[in-house]
Amino acid sequence: MSRQPRDETFYPGPSRSHLAAFPPKERWHDWTELDSQAWPKRKERHYQLVPTTCFNCESACGLLAYIDKVTGEVQKFEGNPENPGSRGRNCAKGPATLNQITDPDRILYPLKRAGKRGAGEWERVSWDEALDDIAGRIRKAIVEERRDEIMYHVGRPGEDGFTERILAAWGVDGHNSHTNICSSGSREGYQLWMGLDRPSPDHSNAKVILLISAHLESGHYFNPHAQRVIDGKANGAKLIVFDTRLSHTATHADFWVAPYPGSEAAMLLAIANYLIQNNLYNREFVRRWWNWQECLELEHPDIEDSFENFEQALKDTYREYTFEFAAQESGVDAKTIEEIAKVVATAGTRFSSHNWRSAASGISGGWTVARTLFMLNALLGAVATEGGVFPNAWNKFVPRPIYTPPHPKMWNEKTWPREYPLSMNEMSFLLPHLLMDGRGTLDVYFTRVYNPIWTNPDGFSWIEALTNEKLVGCHVALTPVWSETAYFADYILPMGLGPERHDLHSYETHDAQWLGFRQPVRKAARQRDGETIKDTREVNPGEVWEENEFWMELTWRIDPDGSLGIRQFVESKQRPGTRLSVDEYYGWLFENSVPGLTEKAATESLTPLEYMRRYGAFEITKKVGAIYEEPVPSVELDDIKEDQSGRVFSRAPKPASPNIVPVPSPDGDADGRRMAGVRVDGEIRRGFPTPSGKLEFYSRTLAEWGWHEYAIPTYVKSHVHPDNLEADQTILISTFRLPIQIHTRSANAKWLNEIAHTNPLWLHPSHAAKLEVITGDLVRIETEIGYFVVRAWVTEGIRPGIVACSHHMGRWKVHENGARQLMATVSLNHDGTKWTLERKSGAGPYKSSDDDTLRIWWNDVGVHQNLTFPVHPDPISGMHCWHQAVRVTKARETDTYGDIHVDTAKSREVYKRWLEMTRPADSYSPDGTRRPYWMLRPLKPAREFYKLPE
Ligand code: SF4
Repeated sequence: MSRQPRDETFYPGPSRSHLAAFPPKERWHDWTELDSQAWPKRKERHYQLVPTTCFNCESACGLLAYIDKVTGEVQKFEGNPENPGSRGRNCAKGPATLNQITDPDRILYPLKRAGKRGAGEWERVSWDEALDDIAGRIRKAIVEERRDEIMYHVGRPGEDGFTERILAAWGVDGHNSHTNICSSGSREGYQLWMGLDRPSPDHSNAKVILLISAHLESGHYFNPHAQRVIDGKANGAKLIVFDTRLSHTATHADFWVAPYPGSEAAMLLAIANYLIQNNLYNREFVRRWWNWQECLELEHPDIEDSFENFEQALKDTYREYTFEFAAQESGVDAKTIEEIAKVVATAGTRFSSHNWRSAASGISGGWTVARTLFMLNALLGAVATEGGVFPNAWNKFVPRPIYTPPHPKMWNEKTWPREYPLSMNEMSFLLPHLLMDGRGTLDVYFTRVYNPIWTNPDGFSWIEALTNEKLVGCHVALTPVWSETAYFADYILPMGLGPERHDLHSYETHDAQWLGFRQPVRKAARQRDGETIKDTREVNPGEVWEENEFWMELTWRIDPDGSLGIRQFVESKQRPGTRLSVDEYYGWLFENSVPGLTEKAATESLTPLEYMRRYGAFEITKKVGAIYEEPVPSVELDDIKEDQSGRVFSRAPKPASPNIVPVPSPDGDADGRRMAGVRVDGEIRRGFPTPSGKLEFYSRTLAEWGWHEYAIPTYVKSHVHPDNLEADQTILISTFRLPIQIHTRSANAKWLNEIAHTNPLWLHPSHAAKLEVITGDLVRIETEIGYFVVRAWVTEGIRPGIVACSHHMGRWKVHENGARQLMATVSLNHDGTKWTLERKSGAGPYKSSDDDTLRIWWNDVGVHQNLTFPVHPDPISGMHCWHQAVRVTKARETDTYGDIHVDTAKSREVYKRWLEMTRPADSYSPDGTRRPYWMLRPLKPAREFYKLPE
């Protein structure tokens, strides 16, 4: 091989990684490697390297597809060094994308059910037949004003809101997400403080990192954050991890504590109290940026309005959160908590912290965990600082698309019921119960990258709802693979995997802004070779399609003549009267909405679209910094009005690029001005997008909407607090997974399946001794609605007395179709509300187009524990509280591995019990609306539909 010419880009490129193994980008068009299979002959193979992004979790790491120039097939996937988030690195699931595109069990053609729903009988149909039928139903529902019967239910969107805009084009408030079974707990806590729902920690530059969850294996955003946590450690940062279980992250920690589940907020408040009582907080930051005046005014009207008086009130309020109190709640030694508090105090503004899922998703009141964690940042002033935590929206970029349809003129009570006015996201996991309550029906129900029967709690209630054709008229499963939910569909439409579709992403991986482009790699390669490809079905296997084209075509067919006003949102600007193509869609967007891209592309004589197709990512801003401190420019201040808390409202329109210059609170004043900033020490600053424009230590929203007791960060005894358990109950933690697998999407990746294919019950030796079980013995786990039988794994890596079971295993199929490498074949039966699922056989070798399937040596594929969990919606955040109060016993003689028994009548009782804990908008709304308008909401309806009906 010849030496590199000097002008080739040997990395560091945007990745700033010194990984010389990456092929220089100048040679991506013709990269040569020796064929390992031909060894010892030195046979050269030539590849075109085409970037895309991984779709195996939300991180959207860059991938480079090595496409053989002779066969046109993908040989392998490696990291894309041009992606500023992942910097060329991937976890095991990235390269395993290759297994997924060659998966012998994948779905290649549109299917329509041929027998009863769920009977497992399918017939192949054409795309035209499926599209016309579905479009006809949707059109009819729209024309008949039954728009609330159309619902799109998404798991991992993996895109920037494309499909939300399609729903807006239909005028439908039909977006439903998985977020309330995922991350709403944390999001609510962060939103209450800063008006934005996710943190963007700058781990690399931190002095102290505090993590509540397993970031090195499954945190948000897993690989991009994990590599930066390790960078931080390499730079000398101290790593503190709170996790009841010895996670991979905990093994790298300087301090690992395993608290009693649900006590995390008590420990965090003890640390906060230490900072407060010892004057170790950033006084100037608190004075300038907390809404302390509002707190004094509303809660201490008798005290004179001065910062010193607030400080005294703060000291008095938090005095009770001693290390001893935290020790009593958590079971962690008071001295250890004190030692951690002293380390936190040394961080100054270089304190990065993150809570994702974990405790915040496990317990009732889980949102207080993120709220009290961020309180440490807010006390230290480690907000949007080097080594601190940024609000997510400042570290991501969502470009303006070619069309922006208006907000839907309706409110869907099946996703946003009145009982949960402050819920972070749609009450998605309650859908079967809401339908059974008689709150409406569905005519067309899409599921996409979502498997609610398997992923959600209470899966048997989902089966009951989905098999009831009166409740769900037509279920369309958009999926590349078979799933437990797809079995109960009317149509299964095969969608492209990561390298077979277009999407845009931008995530808060660090203090910067970047845009990633997912693309069908075979299409991009052939287009670069001069071919014209009109439709991704021309290059994808079978009749696999991509969603962008599918949604645009479906929209066109709903309104073929444009009379409903819908078609205009998918019509070509270049060729009016014809449907928009993906090339025009992305070409317009890259040219018109991404600052700096056109200029950058021009330096290589490329169009912006060609640039993105060639490199797959673009770094917009290397460093964002503290936007809240920026003075608001005078052009944004027109006919301003200021209220007594310093909020400044202006008649000037919003700045053109809301992502570059985030706009404070969307809540305007009574005269139609929008909030433009907040006055601090005489100067109008951008502030935070909260009702006060400041960081909200005091939540007027909680106080006014019936939750006054939680107006400031506090500790809540959770549903699994010892006070709420019976003597023979313990806690089951189900909110973790291993880094190799992800929920339901990776069962079609043979490399991953070989590494990880089971989910035993973690049990401490002292606990195992009491139960008289050893590793491999069967144990029965009894929940409120039933039980499951699983194998024990005795380990010191868990707090004694608590048990844990990873949630990413236990896939099953009743019929032949399915991912045979990781799905057990089961019998599924019920007698009224009493359901059983029994394992008939596990995985095993089978003949297929891939010889490796004959080498499958594992049989065990784990147990589907979520079926035995009832719904536990947190009355404030709406988050499903995953931790279960369970009884763990040695299995009975009649028990066999994988047995599951559930009574859905009990599920209904639990649902109703938790519903009673809510404080509905009808009784508690302070202003006759369904929900505070300032709070985030996907696919926000027009403002007038926030009003509660008379
Ligand atoms: S962390 Fe792993 S699964 Fe997630 S996007 Fe990156 S490579 Fe893919």
